[in-house]
Parts: sequence; structure tokens; C-alpha cells
Amino acid sequence: MIIRRRTKPLPLQKLDAVIPRLSPQFKRLPEMQLDAANRYKGYIGEQKVDYHLELLPGNFTILHDVCLAANNKSFQIDSIVISPHAIFIIEVKNYDGTVTFDTTFKQFTRNNGDKDTGYRYPITQAESSKLKLTNWLHEQNYHDIPVHYLIAVSDPSTIIKVNGDKQAIAEVVMHGEYIPMKVMEIDEKFARSGQPRLESRRIGEAMLWECQEFDFEIVGRYGITNKDILTGVHCPECGRLGMERRRKTWHCTKCGKATKYAHIRAIKDYLLLINSSISNKECRRFLRLPSRSIVTRILQKSELVYQKKHKSWEKA
Ligand SMILES: [Zn+2]
Repeated sequence: MIIRRRTKPLPLQKLDAVIPRLSPQFKRLPEMQLDAANRYKGYIGEQKVDYHLELLPGNFTILHDVCLAANNKSFQIDSIVISPHAIFIIEVKNYDGTVTFDTTFKQFTRNNGDKDTGYRYPITQAESSKLKLTNWLHEQNYHDIPVHYLIAVSDPSTIIKVNGDKQAIAEVVMHGEYIPMKVMEIDEKFARSGQPRLESRRIGEAMLWECQEFDFEIVGRYGITNKDILTGVHCPECGRLGMERRRKTWHCTKCGKATKYAHIRAIKDYLLLINSSISNKECRRFLRLPSRSIVTRILQKSELVYQKKHKSWEKA
């Protein structure tokens, strides 16, 4: 049973919101576009693996996109499966072409047909996640729970090669569709060896309770200041920033599109990028709409609620 579903990751939401609000001359824009494209690919790959994990029986507890903290340090895991006898860390790798694991030098390379690119060795990364999760379990007073990791290659056409110990890699690395079978096979082994049954659901609920949203300081990472973030309402048709509002409707001066609700995305962008609440004054500035009463009406009709204490509107 899935108790935590995957949603579009916050870093990707923020990049998607900020990129169309930067001047095309913004120096680090190409870097950000590449970052967004890579994160999007990763997100699609994770969803592909999620689809396979959902085939596991109902007594397996599944959490996607888990961010926990142990020893005051947070760590992220793509998916966690709690089977009746063990906990599984599933790390998703999304690479096309050929990937090579070198077990002697602990190196990982990807060849896309053109050239080799080296990445962090996924086994080392998974070992480190295992250690952190084990520490977290200890902090929660769960001891002696077997923690196992598996690395899912999300694209079924990716060719997996090994230099060195093939068997060791084959035990933990596989295409996404084989993950559920492997999880069940390992769980059965634990069952046969007399491993006591876990309170799977309770452990899952504890993780859910402690789960944090993985945040991403877009301002710090890319040197974006609030001044760099362009204000205005985007046209949903042609993407131009700066729709004009006349008689309760937004109009695009470029393509002629007329729409009533184009401001919703702009307010969402503000809440993601600038502040978790918005005042009438700030909303006027951001929507480029000088009328206090019109902005009040817009905010009243939004899903936000007015907080008297802060004189601003926040998510309910
Ligand atoms: Zn337009």
C-alpha cells in the first residue's frame, strides 16, 4: 500500500516557476535550464519505477520521495518499501545508453554513444543511505531491522555492464520492472530464516510523520535576488509576461488571448519563489495591478486565507 505518493519535486517546481520570470540575459539561465531538464528526466524515471513498485502486494508499505533527518542531517531516498520482514531502499537511476559499474575502482560511467561520463558510484551512495536510514531507525528505537538497498535502472533500454564482480552488482542493480520480484524474493529469504515480522505499517507511519519536504534554495544556488524575478501575469497561450486586466479578464497584447484565471499561476509563483504569504500590496506589485479592491477580490476568490495578524494571505 502506498502511503506517500510522489509529486513534482519542489526544486523542479521552483525552477519551472523562476525560469520564465528571468531576463533572457540572466547569466546562469542556461545552467538552470539544464538543471531543470535533468530533474525532469529524473522525475519521469522515478515515476516509471513507481509504476512497477505498485504491483507489490497490499501488505507491503510504500513511501515515495522520502526525506528524513538523522544526527540532524537530512537525507533523501527515492522510494522505501517496508516488506513484512525488511526495509528496502530503492534508488532510481535514469540514464540512457550504456552504464558501466567498475567494482574494482568503484567507478560508474555512462556512454551515450558519443563519450563516457563519470558519475558518483551508486553503490557507495546506496550504502551511505542505508547507514543513514539505520541511524534514523535507531533514533526511533527500532533495532535489528534488516535494511537492504536496490538500484533501479528506470529505462528498460539502458544496457547495464559490469567490470569486475558481476554477481555482486546483479544482486542489487536491475531494471525497474524486476524490483518487485527481487523485493519479494529477499523478503521470503528473511521469512525462512526466522526473521520476526515487522510492524510495517507503524514504521511507515513513523516515517511519514517525520518526512520533510526537500527544499532547494534557488536564490542561494543561482544567485537570484528578488529584483531578478520579473513581475506580471503570463499568457497561457504564447507565454508572454505582462497580461493586462480589463473587465475581470486578462488580455494578452501579443496574441490576443483573453482569460479569467491567468493570475492564479502568478500568485503560485510568488508563494513558491518569494514568500509563503502575500500581502495586498505585494500582490498588486506582482500582478502589475494597481487597484487595491480588485486585488482584494482576486485574493478572496483564491484558495488562500487572510491572516489578520500578518495582514497577508496564506495557504490554508
Ligand atoms: Zn499571448
